[in-house]
Amino acid sequence: MANRDFPKNVDAVVVGGGFAGVYALHKLREIGLTVRGFEAASDVGGTWYWNRYPGARCDVESLEYSFGFSDKIQQEWDWSHRFSFQPDIHSYIAHVADETGVRSLISFETRVLSQAYDAESQMWTVKTDKGEEITCRFCIMAAGNLSVPLFPDIPGLDEFEGEKYHSGRWPEEDVDFTGKRVAVFGTGATGIQIIPEVAKEAEHLYVMQRSPNFSLPAGNRRLTEKEVAEFKKDYPEHRKRARRHLFGVAGVPEPTRSVLELTEEETLETFEQLWAYGGSINFQMAFTDFMKDERANKRLADFVRSKIRQTVKDPETAEKLCPYDHPIGSKRICIDTGYYETFNRDNVTLVSLRENPVQRITPKGIVTEQGEIEVDALIFATGFDAITGALTHIDITGRDGLKLADKWKERPSAYLGFAVAGFPNMFVITGPGSPSVKSNMVLSIEQHVEFAADTIVHMQENDLGAIEPQVAAENEWVDYVSEVANKTLFVKADSWYTGANVPGKPRMFVPFVGGVNTYRLACEDVKQNGYRGFTTEARHKVRETS
Ligand code: FAD
Ligand code: NAP
Repeated sequence: MANRDFPKNVDAVVVGGGFAGVYALHKLREIGLTVRGFEAASDVGGTWYWNRYPGARCDVESLEYSFGFSDKIQQEWDWSHRFSFQPDIHSYIAHVADETGVRSLISFETRVLSQAYDAESQMWTVKTDKGEEITCRFCIMAAGNLSVPLFPDIPGLDEFEGEKYHSGRWPEEDVDFTGKRVAVFGTGATGIQIIPEVAKEAEHLYVMQRSPNFSLPAGNRRLTEKEVAEFKKDYPEHRKRARRHLFGVAGVPEPTRSVLELTEEETLETFEQLWAYGGSINFQMAFTDFMKDERANKRLADFVRSKIRQTVKDPETAEKLCPYDHPIGSKRICIDTGYYETFNRDNVTLVSLRENPVQRITPKGIVTEQGEIEVDALIFATGFDAITGALTHIDITGRDGLKLADKWKERPSAYLGFAVAGFPNMFVITGPGSPSVKSNMVLSIEQHVEFAADTIVHMQENDLGAIEPQVAAENEWVDYVSEVANKTLFVKADSWYTGANVPGKPRMFVPFVGGVNTYRLACEDVKQNGYRGFTTEARHKVRETS
């Protein structure tokens, strides 16, 4: 449908067409709103549209990393693998968009450039890069936590004459590295997935590692028909359990004991079992104190380092791959398929940028302190302007000319990680200060979309024109998020969770790590207490609800 056929005034605009945008469009239409969606990509999928790099797959098991709102969809859809591959996850989101009929509500290849709130009319005006102007009462920000790719600022990058790729902007057409010399920058969760795949094709692969990361074997495999059927039999029950879980999954029990209660032999035996089973959540949920006690954390970190040394044949390379600069888990624990084994291949070279920094890129390759490496292709798996980046890239103006990007310069504050003081009727799906990226995100997305829908229904039932958080409630929430994080080892790493990967970004641990269930109960409590902490406005009369 051409953009001109879409209405210019709707109840709600949804920015983004990933998991969050697709569900938000469906849910809001279900409660009777007129809606429009905007998506910069040419299709739905979000993360799973853009990150089509070789090896891309999820690290939360697919039976759980999927929507629970429709029993029909969860019964009909068949996941083939424990951790599905990007094409399957993309197809799944497309299927949900088609089943719910929301695809026709989205303007694709259309970027929202600005949003401005008018206090008098209690309406937002949204402008796009296609020159469209739309007015709406509600803005649902489903723009993603990991949707703004970061390219490194290396001198000479523009002069490189070979191929250049970013993992988060991977082209739709097939990329063939056969016979090519390739360099991959970045050894986070993405690089660790890409490297083993590209190594199979490339003539030579240079892994440009700045910081080593901990990675565990994924243990990915085909799901059997029997186990899928077993899971589906109790799907609603599993989803209910997941909502009450620390991380938002049903299949991994929460921890009950400290690893320090075990002898070294018992610890080793347990770790070996977890290693053989694969995945990271089972490790993270095995004991209560990995992220609370440095001694507990060191036991696991030492174990993973010993596995790296056992796997990588060249001791010098193995040592360079061992992380010592952060507690395990304080950056996202990666899961891999043959990552460490890749360094035993003759066509793979680890370049440790700590000892041998990059000086510049030339038309033919990369100059490090030790000389030039000629390559045909550069792959950047260098991460994202995470959590707040997608929103600060939109020119969002709230009440009294307040700009969101200015407000978030000091600290990215949002009440319950969901709504922002000064920005009425704008709801941020998995915003800063919610469990978001420290949870099974699809479950957290569903919870936030439903929170937004409930809030709108509450407004309709009470004839409210605007709702926004009180500044005091917002500050109290952000302080609480920091307090919870500061009791953990999560704060002990320079990671994208803290804004450390973007120069000039405020430094604080942003996601809520108190658990999905605790968070859900906090939201329920706010709702049940007349939207405590929010200010509501009916016909321009301000009423405090606390
Ligand atoms: P996204 O999927 O990021 O979608 C946001 C969309 O908004 C994007 O398509 C973007 O183009 C669009 N957009 C942004 N700004 C604008 C604008 N101004 N105008 C128009 N459109 C705009 N999480 C897990 O829980 N488990 C996993 O296993 C997991 N694996 C991941 C693997 C990778 C490679 C990455 C990068 C992330 C992974 N995540 C995982 C996190 C993942 O981002 C979420 O699980 C989930 O897909 C987010 O969905 P979303 O709809 O909130 O955001
Ligand atoms: P990331 O975790 O931010 O990692 C970026 C990597 O690039 C780091 O190794 C970083 O090194 C390196 N880097 C950045 N700038 C560099 C430069 N100028 N020179 C050299 N190296 C540079 O990003 P990501 O790997 O894309 O992962 C982001 C998140 O997406 C993950 O944490 C996870 O939540 C999600 N994800 C999940 C999966 C999955 O398994 N399902 C897969 C991919 C991504 P430093 O550490 O030194 O900064």
